[in-house]
Amino acid sequence: STDAPVSLVTGANRGIGRETARQLAGLGHTVLLCARRQEDAERAAAELAGSAGTVLPRRLDVTDDDGLHALARAVEAEFGRLDVLVNNAAINYDTTARATDVDLDEVRRTLETNLFGAWQTTQAFLPLLRRSARARVVNVSSESGSLESMGGGTPAYGVSKAALNALTRKLADELRAERILVNAVCPGWIATDMGGPGGAPVEEGGASVVWAATLPDSGPTGGFFRHGKPLPW
Ligand code: NDP
Repeated sequence: STDAPVSLVTGANRGIGRETARQLAGLGHTVLLCARRQEDAERAAAELAGSAGTVLPRRLDVTDDDGLHALARAVEAEFGRLDVLVNNAAINYDTTARATDVDLDEVRRTLETNLFGAWQTTQAFLPLLRRSARARVVNVSSESGSLESMGGGTPAYGVSKAALNALTRKLADELRAERILVNAVCPGWIATDMGGPGGAPVEEGGASVVWAATLPDSGPTGGFFRHGKPLPW
């Protein structure tokens, strides 16, 4: 058990997830740094050692429902609660594909991680979030999911993030009375493996996520933000 906020970040072995874990640990959180492969989680956690908080490596593939529930049981045994859930893991920024002829198996695979992964992760950890006095859920989304920027390109990714935004609204509404704040965040265009070299430094993307993960009790729920400013759905 710990008095420090307990946070869980999915897909945290690299990119924005890893940076989010780093920043939350810097704020004194106990961070469960999750990765598909145990060795990737351990390597990333070792790199972040020395932060103000504690970074604990955990294996988690968000498409593995059994693994999710096993991790939830382990977190329950160790901490009895979860304060912050960051649904960050995502795949397939399919810029050159077109909705008219994209391989639908590719679309299904994308939704399995980007939508259902976040959905079943939230369901698995909800009992533990309900035991927090300050529960926050952050769905790391993208402006590619905004219906106002739904031009051509990124058919699988854009649809997955639009659906993630819709899920954010549903969850926020259902959990409002319990004071669990659920928001979607676009980190901005960030230089990661997914974003490519032209984007902004990863610190900027992490900060956009951490803002929603550390909202005060009076903070918003059911919103879509970048750098703390509302984005159009
Ligand atoms: P990266 O591709 O750099 O990292 C993605 C992370 O997700 C990796 O750690 C990867 O793990 C993990 N992951 C993928 N599938 C799974 C899975 N099934 N279970 C667990 N983890 C998984 O992406 P970014 O850091 O750039 O993106 C992070 C988030 O930010 C995503 O949600 C993305 O859509 C969003 N975003 C990014 C933007 C950008 O410009 N970079 C812009 C807008 C949104 P592994 O190493 O095992 O593959």
